[in-house]
Amino acid sequence: MKKPACLRSILSFALITRVLAFKWSSPVVGACLSFYKNYDFDCGAHSDYYVCLYGSQPFLGSILSCMDNGAKTSKERDETNELVMFYARQYGHRYTVDDLERFRANATKYMRTYLEASKIRIVNFPFTANEGLFEWNEDAEKQMEVFIKRDTVWLGWGLVWFWVVVIAWSTAVNINHRYIGIPVPRTVSQFCRKYITYPSTIKIAPTLFPTRLHTIIISAFVIQVVLSSSIGYGYHIASPYISSKYLVLNMLQHRSGGFSAVMLPILVLFGIRNNPLTYFSGFSFADYMVFHKVAAIIMTTEGLIHSIIWTIYIVCLQSNYTLWVKETSFVCGIIATVIACLMIFVSLKIFRNHAYEVFLVIHNCFSILFVVMIWIHVKHLAYNKWVWGMLSIWCIDRLTRMVRIIMSGGIQTLEVEICDAKVLKISFKKPRWFKYYHGSYLFVSFLTPWFTAWQFHPFTTISSPVEQDGTLTLYVKVMKGVTRRLSQLDFDENGKIKIRGMIEGPYGSPVRSCKVEENCVAVAGGLGITAVLPALYCRFLQDETVQTKTEKQAAKVLKTLTSDYAVTASLYWIINDIRYVKWLHSDLQYLANNGCKVVILLTRKQLTECDSSPHLEAAAYTIFHSECRPDIGLLVSSCVQEAFKTGNDISFYTCGSESFNNIISDKLSENIQVGCKVQLTHHAEAYVW
Ligand SMILES: Cc1cc2nc3c(=O)[nH]c(=O)nc-3n(C[C@H](O)[C@H](O)[C@H](O)COP(=O)(O)OP(=O)(O)OC[C@H]3O[C@@H](n4cnc5c(N)ncnc54)[C@H](O)[C@@H]3O)c2cc1C
Repeated sequence: MKKPACLRSILSFALITRVLAFKWSSPVVGACLSFYKNYDFDCGAHSDYYVCLYGSQPFLGSILSCMDNGAKTSKERDETNELVMFYARQYGHRYTVDDLERFRANATKYMRTYLEASKIRIVNFPFTANEGLFEWNEDAEKQMEVFIKRDTVWLGWGLVWFWVVVIAWSTAVNINHRYIGIPVPRTVSQFCRKYITYPSTIKIAPTLFPTRLHTIIISAFVIQVVLSSSIGYGYHIASPYISSKYLVLNMLQHRSGGFSAVMLPILVLFGIRNNPLTYFSGFSFADYMVFHKVAAIIMTTEGLIHSIIWTIYIVCLQSNYTLWVKETSFVCGIIATVIACLMIFVSLKIFRNHAYEVFLVIHNCFSILFVVMIWIHVKHLAYNKWVWGMLSIWCIDRLTRMVRIIMSGGIQTLEVEICDAKVLKISFKKPRWFKYYHGSYLFVSFLTPWFTAWQFHPFTTISSPVEQDGTLTLYVKVMKGVTRRLSQLDFDENGKIKIRGMIEGPYGSPVRSCKVEENCVAVAGGLGITAVLPALYCRFLQDETVQTKTEKQAAKVLKTLTSDYAVTASLYWIINDIRYVKWLHSDLQYLANNGCKVVILLTRKQLTECDSSPHLEAAAYTIFHSECRPDIGLLVSSCVQEAFKTGNDISFYTCGSESFNNIISDKLSENIQVGCKVQLTHHAEAYVW
């Protein structure tokens, strides 16, 4: 006899879903299974429904005979055999083809009709399927197969192709800009900078959409996801087993589950340190972190829709809730969705700002747990190739990180020196195998104290001409986590200590130095100085090598340098502690002596012994005291006005908080005049992701 309507509906829904999402599937098998699922082969009350079902001789005999009738060719018959063996294996029954033949032969002896089976509650004999119902269902299955295997797969690939197109376009622009030099009309580049790439989206608070360019890309992607999730739900053949409402929901859960899986490799690729795209696409690691967050939100939202639809069915099936809770794949899917939601929550900026270490632990542990859960959830489904993709990318990244650590010298000695209560200087031998170019950054794991060894923190290398050759230097601001613990170590009387650590790098693109014929303005807030110094050093090293340039280039440079308005290089450093100047004195002096205008804007006047130190008296740079924060916008505007007067192009290198960079970007976009002879360029670095 047939099962109650709700149970029937659920099992049909589950079955259609299961059959169609499996690695291989067949409308014949789907149609047969759907038909027989409506009968109770004495498994309804069994604690493990599917284990019981695939061990039931009447059930196996019935579906095998149904498949034999439905299969049009011997190849199709073999495929249906394979599929039945595969399903049975999932529930602990390891059948061979011979076993199936035996079941068939045995079943023919007891075969009855579906009319007889419909009259009794528990069916204990094999029976033939209703041919009309079978054909109807087979057509409905074929229709679903087109929806899942053609439409959803292609639309899923469409999401991948969206990023391929965006990255290809930005790579072309970047390669042309860096190496080929096909001239882009100045008005076009000025228009793009003024209205698209420089203005921040929301002026006051930096958000998930730092600039208009990010906003355009993200909005276009979200529109594509929404459209792709909403089209193609029209069906011509209704299912004989589930209502049209449930059929559409079933289609929707397939689409959302599929899209969630498609997002996995994209999500990981954008989030890894060794993202190869950063080397040529022109998007920085910080840009990819924005895309990583967007991919995570889309993946989780799709996963949530997928899980909610399944849960609706479970709620409908309250009496058989235990049946589902025992389904490992179902439980793992739900856990994966919950983990993804929690990961998004702890990644919120407010959380990261207040407890970065907690965020890091949770993010790392949950990522591993998520991968395990999602793998169990999809291991037998066609979607598992996306998980393989994600795992491969993740493994390659981990391997590359290990290679980088080994080639950077493995465990090595780091000399940590206290510059002042808030700044540490870390020096170590330059790695032999890797060149740490100007503007590169690296990750450091401090093995003292030992329990912080698992954390790798990014710092910018200063390849300073005033530092000892063969040494790399990092200036580190003492924050609340690892850096604070480092500052609390037992330093000797000279304020130094040697500790063990691991270096992983170099990362980041070489700094784009400004051309010799353009003005170079560096503006840094606090320790952001470490990011802008490499640009200035590059500039001066470049000037020193002017003689080695080709005659044509040299003539151009000479003309610029001897024009009425010589090009300039300036550094504006905004600090709130005069002691910063002390530890960077030699570098500042070097820049000032080489013709760079160095201006220190001290925002808090502190009369300490440093004020009268011999360093400052002999300084070739200027220090301005101010009781309040300087107006950076005004500073930028005045530099731009000067450039307009001289007619020189001008490049800004800035590093500070996100809002600091945004103010400068917005000011520059305001000042850009489309069609004007002077080109304004902004290279921004922020020490936050
Ligand atoms: C590309 C890059 C280059 C940097 N260069 C320098 C530099 O030259 N000098 C310098 O003083 N600082 C630099 N920073 C910032 C530096 O990484 C953090 O200040 C440092 O990791 C803080 O460690 P903490 O445990 O004491 O921080 P916490 O007090 O725990 O956190 C403070 C903030 O630091 C950031 N942060 C903490 N840990 C990490 C991490 N593992 N990865 C990324 N960000 C983290 C977070 O934004 C967090 O909100 C750089 C950051 C980036 C992204």
